[in-house]
This record gives sequence, C-alpha cells and structure tokens, in this order.
Amino acid sequence: MIRIPYHRPTIGDAEFEYVRQALVSGRLSGDGAFTKRCQAILESQTGTGRALLTHSGTAALELAALLGELKPGDEVIMPSYTFTSTANAFVLRGAVPVFVDIRPDTLNLDENLIEEAVTSRTRAIVPAHYAGVGCAMDTIVAIAKRHELIVVEDAAQALGSTYRGRSLGTFGQLGIISFHETKTVVCGEGGALLINDPSMAERAEIIREKGTNRSAFFRGMVDRYTWVDVGSSFLPSDILAAVLLGQLESADELTLRRHTLWNRYHTGFEELEAAGLVRRPAIPDVCEHNAHIYWLLLPSVDVRRQVIDQLQAAGIQAVFHYVPLHSSPAGRRFGRYDAPLPVTDDASDRILRLPMWAELGDAVDEVIDRVSAAVRLAVASD
Ligand SMILES: *Cc1c(COP(=O)(O)O)cnc(C)c1O
Repeated sequence: MIRIPYHRPTIGDAEFEYVRQALVSGRLSGDGAFTKRCQAILESQTGTGRALLTHSGTAALELAALLGELKPGDEVIMPSYTFTSTANAFVLRGAVPVFVDIRPDTLNLDENLIEEAVTSRTRAIVPAHYAGVGCAMDTIVAIAKRHELIVVEDAAQALGSTYRGRSLGTFGQLGIISFHETKTVVCGEGGALLINDPSMAERAEIIREKGTNRSAFFRGMVDRYTWVDVGSSFLPSDILAAVLLGQLESADELTLRRHTLWNRYHTGFEELEAAGLVRRPAIPDVCEHNAHIYWLLLPSVDVRRQVIDQLQAAGIQAVFHYVPLHSSPAGRRFGRYDAPLPVTDDASDRILRLPMWAELGDAVDEVIDRVSAAVRLAVASD
C-alpha cells in the first residue's frame, strides 16, 4: 500500500468556490471570465505579451507548431530526454525531430551541441526546461538568431521559474506551460501558450478558435465572424479555468512549500553524494527554479530497481522518468540523431524522482532516511 505517493495535488477552498461560480454563471465553454482572469495573471506574472489558455500543454505545443509554420522535412532540434509531446507536436506537421544530448548537471539540452546539429533544413529549437530549471537561454537564443531559427520553449514544468531574472517561456518566440495534474500548478488537464512575438498573436487566436476570427469579433473589431484560416479547438472549458484560477492565486505559497521540501532533500542527501553513492541536481547560479522535481542519479539501473522495490515495500512511491525518445519506436521512425547521446541514456537509466507535493510535510525526512538506507544496502549487495 502506498502511504507516501509520488504526487498529490493540493486543492484549496477557492477552487471549489470558483467552480461553483462558473457552473452557476452558465458560461461553461471556453474564453469566459475565469479564462480571462487566468490569462491576465499569467501575462503579469511571466511578462509575456500574450497568454492563451489551452486544454493541455500538448495542445499548446501543437498550436506552436502550427504558428511556427513547420513543414514536412523541416528539422527541429530538441532533447531526447523529454516527454513525447515535445516531439509529437512537430511530427504531426511532418517535421523531423533531431535529438541532441543533455547536460549532466541539469539534464537540460546541452547548448554546446546544438550548433553542430544545425543543417540547411533546421527551422526551430525546442529546449525543454527539465524539473523547472532553465536551459542556457542566452546561448540558445544567440544560436537561433545566427541561423534564423524560431525558439519554442517547452516550459511545461517551469511556471514560476526564471533564467537571469526573466520568466522561462518568454525567451523564445513562443513558450508553453502545462497544468496537468502532475505539474506544480494544476487544473487536471490544461496548458497555456505564451506568445512573445506580437506578430504571432492574432493568428494564434484564430488557430485556437477553429480557424475563425471569433476573438476579434467579440472585441468588436469585425462585424461578423467567419472561417479565415486553418485551426482547431484548443480552448479549455471555463470550469477548468475556474480551478486554475484558484491554483494560480495560491501558486506562490505552493511553490514556497515545495522549495522547503526540495531544500530538505538536498541537504539530506549531501552525505550520500559526498560518499559517491548518488548525484544530486545542480542548479546554475542564473536559474531560480520552482522545485518541480527532486531527483537523484543512483549508481546503476540495478541499484535503482532495488531501491524502487524497497521504497515500494515501505509504502513510498519513487519513480524513474523518460525513456529516451531517440531510442523509442516512434522516435526511431520519425526522428534522427547524428551522434550518440550518452548522457541521455545514462540519466534515463539511473534517475530516481522522489515524492514532491506541497503537503508532503515531515514525511520528507522518512523518505530521506529510507532512500539513504536503500541505496547503501543495494550498493553493498550489488
Ligand atoms: C507535462 C509535459 C508536457 C505535456 O503537457 P500536458 O499538459 O500533459 O499535455 C510536455 N512537455 C513536458 C516537458 C512536460 O513535462
């Protein structure tokens, strides 16, 4: 029986009250009052020009790929160590993901390997900010400028994180955030597109609204609305936006509590790292993160299996993470990589993510003790 799950969302009274208000209002479809309030908070919090809620982070990525006008055969540089949606959104447009290795300290796209992956067909770079810790955005943006590429930041895990004091998701022309149940701020399924290039804003509204100029119509800018471009339905219901509003209003507190836990883990595993038994995440000086994930690299895939089993037996749920996309069946079919990705393969084998949720509280000490004991035992018997 799991006593301490990997993740559990924290739902406050405001979420219940806002959902009640949304239901009572009778305005249940997209782009109602709650959606507008969420978008305004996201805009002021991140500093993006325009934030549009979507029904998932995946949908925001698909919207970004449409806006970026990716065409069959175009190449998109991205990490292999990421979620499938990072690649799928572009594969749906016929583009080819080109997988590049990650840095060992942050497990983020290695900015020093990007330029050698650029070809005449490269159109975009899609950095993913793993665990809410920023990629080297100054270098990535400079490479993109040099080669006239667009940058779409997969900031799915990074709401509340900054790089050199600026919000993640606001460095590229486009950025995306996820509010999936497992993220830091949640509404079940949800996401947002951050539009940092103002020239893309109008088309983004159209594509998101089934290819119509409905948004402009409601602002009184056109006298009737009609089909003007390709599009789909990327809006969330205002009922979900009501949940999200409650979450966004308590985001600072939720993140603060996660930080306390993250720091307790980090201090708690100092000794184990000094003994050479684990590697802890390293946060670059220029990054402020949102404590989305606390991870450790264990000595081997075997040790990890034993540690997961021992924790499970003690009622603690700890989990590994991505199967690298470059070696997955679909990744091999749709993507490409020009050089081996040893850091990706290694991290994927050895990573362990520990329980992380705002109300975890003092159970964090038990997790630290159990993990430490399990690692020592597994290493001794390996
Ligand atoms: C969660 C996540 C997504 C997808 O977000 P959904 O809201 O679940 O569609 C995309 N990329 C990364 C890196 C993620 O962590």
